[in-house]
Amino acid sequence: MNFPGMDADSSRLLLQVWSGSYLMEAGRYLLVALLLWGGVHGLLRRRLAHRVISGWPRSADLRREIGYSLLSMAVFAGVSLGVVALIWNGQFVVYRQPGQYGWAWFWLSLPLMLVIHDAYFYWTHRLLHSRWLFRRFHGVHHRSRNPSPWAAYAFHPVEALINGLVTPLILWAVPVHGGVLLVFSLHQIIRNAHGHLSIETLPRGFARHWLGRHFTTTTHHHMHHENGRGNYGLWFTWWDRWCGTEQAHYLARFDAVTAARPEGDTEQALHSAA
Ligand SMILES: [Zn+2]
Ligand SMILES: [Zn+2]
Repeated sequence: MNFPGMDADSSRLLLQVWSGSYLMEAGRYLLVALLLWGGVHGLLRRRLAHRVISGWPRSADLRREIGYSLLSMAVFAGVSLGVVALIWNGQFVVYRQPGQYGWAWFWLSLPLMLVIHDAYFYWTHRLLHSRWLFRRFHGVHHRSRNPSPWAAYAFHPVEALINGLVTPLILWAVPVHGGVLLVFSLHQIIRNAHGHLSIETLPRGFARHWLGRHFTTTTHHHMHHENGRGNYGLWFTWWDRWCGTEQAHYLARFDAVTAARPEGDTEQALHSAA
């Protein structure tokens, strides 16, 4: 199959880049979601039963979450294809020598990219909650009231495209080291899957801790899935606090979810949460 205006070799190369990106992205997603699902929902199920935030995810939700996530990664791979083409064209710079643009930039670039991504996500997420966009696109992600780690990329393809554009937007503005880009994408899948865990694994007091309070938790995003309002943030709690969109009972809910397990309560917690 040749793409319009391209010879066979160029078309084959594009397909190889797309499929390579897809396999890499899907491999990471499946591995991280499987580890979290198998570890927390499997091995630690009894031990963490008292930390289930509002209920166990249903298998029908899991199947839908995996299906949409695999579809989203086809979109992400398309975005990666565009990024690779722009790198080849010299418009985007992904460099190899860590000191090439100064060591300060090498170390600062990752935190800065996370802050940019957080702001980008918060505002596009707010926009996706407008009635028109929610009904057509973002509602897909909210069909899971009790999400699982498999929901990490469970988006409508249009939302996947909006989310995937953050990397080319950053590369359009600044050069990024290849290793930084890798850590950026690994952080993304790990925290995204963790945010949809439905079980709070962070220590008691984390959400009020002087450092921990800046980071979103599973409870934070889970509450967003429960009622579709407030707690729009991705990595940090900042924008929700600045804009007054943090849910009023977030800290109290986190305290309740992470409270010590009553003695001998495992069976009851498993039963009532099921
Ligand atoms: Zn979500
Ligand atoms: Zn939402």
